[in-house]
Amino acid sequence: MKVDMRTIYRFTPFDYQGELPTGGDVYYECTCGGIVNSVSFIKASCDCGNITGGGGSSKVTDPSKVKPLRGKLR
Ligand SMILES: [Zn+2]
Repeated sequence: MKVDMRTIYRFTPFDYQGELPTGGDVYYECTCGGIVNSVSFIKASCDCGNITGGGGSSKVTDPSKVKPLRGKLR
């Protein structure tokens, strides 16, 4: 089942340098529109497959297509 994360969390983009940041409140937004937690414990991926998460981490194939967001529960 597909859940729209934006209905649950309020996302705010933030600046970073170097490697993509990770953390419980850090989410990756892909250019395809998908949002995956940076330390996802549930299996998750964006529509284009650029971001795949599960087991406590997420793998990003092309970081240039990914924007980190900080997510707060609404
Ligand atoms: Zn994608």
